[in-house]
Amino acid sequence: MRTKVAIIGAGPAGLLLGQLLHSYGIDNVILERHTPDYVLGRIRAGLLEEGTVALLDEVGAGSRAHREGLVHEGIELAFGGERHRIDLHAATGKTMMIYGQTEVTLDLMNARRAAGLTSVYEAEYVKPIDFDTEHPRLSYVKDGVSGEITCDFIAGCDGFHGVSRASVKPSAIETFERVYPFGWLGILSETPPVSHELIYSNHERGFALCTMRSTHRSRYYVQCPLDDHIDQWPDDRFWDELKRRLDSEAADKLVTGPSIEKSIAPLRSFVAEPMRFGRMFLAGDAAHIVPPTGAKGLNLAASDVHYLSQALKEYYDEKSSAGIDGYSTEALSRVWKAVRFSWWMTAMMHRFPDTAGFGAKIQIAELDYVVNSKAAMTSLSENYVGLPF
Ligand SMILES: Cc1cc2nc3c(=O)[nH]c(=O)nc-3n(C[C@H](O)[C@H](O)[C@H](O)COP(=O)(O)OP(=O)(O)OC[C@H]3O[C@@H](n4cnc5c(N)ncnc54)[C@H](O)[C@@H]3O)c2cc1C
Repeated sequence: MRTKVAIIGAGPAGLLLGQLLHSYGIDNVILERHTPDYVLGRIRAGLLEEGTVALLDEVGAGSRAHREGLVHEGIELAFGGERHRIDLHAATGKTMMIYGQTEVTLDLMNARRAAGLTSVYEAEYVKPIDFDTEHPRLSYVKDGVSGEITCDFIAGCDGFHGVSRASVKPSAIETFERVYPFGWLGILSETPPVSHELIYSNHERGFALCTMRSTHRSRYYVQCPLDDHIDQWPDDRFWDELKRRLDSEAADKLVTGPSIEKSIAPLRSFVAEPMRFGRMFLAGDAAHIVPPTGAKGLNLAASDVHYLSQALKEYYDEKSSAGIDGYSTEALSRVWKAVRFSWWMTAMMHRFPDTAGFGAKIQIAELDYVVNSKAAMTSLSENYVGLPF
């Protein structure tokens, strides 16, 4: 097979990149390790920045999001038994949209299918080859038969555990990492959300987050020890713990029900630099991970792909390499700001092993400042709704 851009990974980054390139007349092929159903079954992010929605619109895959997504103009920060609203829209003129990653992925998959673009699912042993030369290739195995794709460029959109970053020689890459000493236990339930907007709760028993996927489907999280196992958390225990971490009004209003998904995710900040290696680029989780506190993971994948698609468009339309030469620096500048914001939100909201005493007092002082200072509220809002790209 021959294509201009060979994309590894059919998550949000790979699928969105494929549609953007297609809209610019740049042909591309996607290789994905799993089946479409497996990819669609992964319950992950759910909060989209306006810029991400605009990219879905640009590729003609945004109409269902506009119909079914819930537009949010604010969030609530809870501490000391009270809730305080941050009016994101008043501070920035922007809103956020609740629309699950599974739905984004489905819409992009359907758009790709409708455009008749080639995707190879269940592609095993995908390997980027010769990406530091003018003639990069991808080898893979499908149904026991070996295949090869020759291309102009490889886009590594294959997530944190993918093969792209792992194929780079260690001397060419630098990584920066912070692993947090706790995880998030998440539950999805077919129940109405406790509140119209998200509630972020700083509590002495640990952080809790009330979010949602729709008006009848809720997503709740509680901070938990890293070595906890799902079996230790029957639904009743989860609901009981969540209630204890909410203010009394929210705890009374909370509608509980059987979980339809339950998982524990570790929290990590990670950045790999650079994001370009000859004719291979990294985008999305392949290059960076943020703790979900700032709702930035999926949105960063979208902004990377925006920069990368523009750079490749410039390369093909104007025969200029300036865009691809600048991709890594441009993308990383926004990535690090989102990494900082996600780290800051995480540090302010969670119980750390050393948060007792001094640390807890500092958190409350910071939260009190944020909800009472227009400048601090604006700063939080600006970052939360997403910096421009
Ligand atoms: C458990 C969990 C919960 C999360 N919760 C949130 C949240 O609440 N809010 C938020 O903003 N973000 C959240 N995130 C982060 C968000 O989901 C990611 O940032 C987003 O999925 C990034 O998209 P991506 O396309 O870069 O990577 P991915 O979605 O990981 O997609 C990568 C794709 O590449 C494929 N792949 C991997 N290796 C290979 C290979 N060798 N060959 C071929 N294909 C390969 C994978 O199967 C996958 O389909 C969460 C992530 C996880 C893991």
